[in-house]
Amino acid sequence: MGIMVNPAHRDTTESDLYILRGLLRCCGAALIPACSDNHTRYYACPETECDRDLVNAEEIEQQIWQRYVALNADAADIVSRDQRRAALLSVLSRITVGTSLVDLDYGWRD
Ligand SMILES: [Zn+2]
Repeated sequence: MGIMVNPAHRDTTESDLYILRGLLRCCGAALIPACSDNHTRYYACPETECDRDLVNAEEIEQQIWQRYVALNADAADIVSRDQRRAALLSVLSRITVGTSLVDLDYGWRD
């Protein structure tokens, strides 16, 4: 499977497909958006010595969004998909990914 790192560095657009861009951490660095040949989206660790597998973007975005909705019950109804990134950035400063995808350390803003 050929993996191409997405060269786009758009960081502020609300319609960014990668809603967790810049938020996910591994090895102290931010995971970077990547895309496979068949357009499946991933987040990848930029450290070449890291043995983390590619993180399926759709899965981890759903998981983190569900966590957000659990804490903000109204959000599911009023926050559109395009607005999710802004919503998450307003409450989270980083999310450190542990050894498995269910092992997430949420860095909430004060
Ligand atoms: Zn890593």
